[in-house]
Amino acid sequence: MESIQIHGRRGPLRDALARSLVVLVVICPTIAVSWQVSRGLEIGTLSLGIYVAVALLLIASEWLLAFDDHWGSLFRGRLTDFLYAGAASAVERLTFVACVTAVAAAGGWLAGAVGVQLWPGHWAFGFQLAAAMLIADAGMYFRHRLFHRSARLWRFHQIHHSPTGLWWIRSAYTHPLEQLCIMLAMMFPIAFLGAGEVLIAVVAFVYGLSGLLQHANVDARSSFLSFVFATPEIHRIHHRADEIGNSHNYSAFFVLMDHLFGTFCRPDPAETHMDVGLEGVTDFPGNFLTHMTLPFGPDTIGPGGGPQVLPEPVAALGPKQT
Ligand SMILES: [Zn+2]
Ligand SMILES: [Zn+2]
Repeated sequence: MESIQIHGRRGPLRDALARSLVVLVVICPTIAVSWQVSRGLEIGTLSLGIYVAVALLLIASEWLLAFDDHWGSLFRGRLTDFLYAGAASAVERLTFVACVTAVAAAGGWLAGAVGVQLWPGHWAFGFQLAAAMLIADAGMYFRHRLFHRSARLWRFHQIHHSPTGLWWIRSAYTHPLEQLCIMLAMMFPIAFLGAGEVLIAVVAFVYGLSGLLQHANVDARSSFLSFVFATPEIHRIHHRADEIGNSHNYSAFFVLMDHLFGTFCRPDPAETHMDVGLEGVTDFPGNFLTHMTLPFGPDTIGPGGGPQVLPEPVAALGPKQT
């Protein structure tokens, strides 16, 4: 197989890393955690170890395989990036507790009232996880589209799209109220249907890993996996500073929903540059505290002044038309 040209540098190690990031960051950890749960063991230590290993791998990958040297990395992270990471972690924890208690209890009451077991708890854990991911993906997809279509909700979501460069920590670059909606879209349906606490924790863990990889500043070569998973190449397109970005690749884990609803945009492996951010906006505030009140202010920054009109889906990105 021909070696990949990555920013003018060739080498079998970089080639192998570029091709295997999805397997290393998402697929292998998911199998490892599922295996641990299937044996009835705790996942706390394992998941923490995986997060540390993934963080180190992404730091190394952004150094070796940066898609754009100007975008960012851990060494050039801003205070706002880390404040968002802390806020996202707190919101995820709070939502998890609420869902495994109140939401699960409400679902359990309903299941008892109608006499139907809503969740297939007798399935093997791997099948339960796949089902939970597909259900959560549907909730996440419609939540994401809604935040692009509603002018009011876009005031929150434009913050996530405001950075003009991506790197893995920016997975968490989301207003806490939107983060709450993301977590509810992920956990509420499966908790309500009766998914257990461990399964919900694993779902959140897998989405967390996938989010880190999707936002990484890496020139990944995921090949056919980009037709199944929301890889860095897929999600990078969603951050494009144009209407294609605004209207494609909303998926958070599998890209099934994008395929089903005609919003899938295939990456162009030849593309070596991409403008990300908000189209026509160069002075979006970068301060965390400013962001907290921004959605409630009188003015909207960026192109989200009204619900956006979806253009015809495009099958692939080609060279930009002049
Ligand atoms: Zn978006
Ligand atoms: Zn994103």
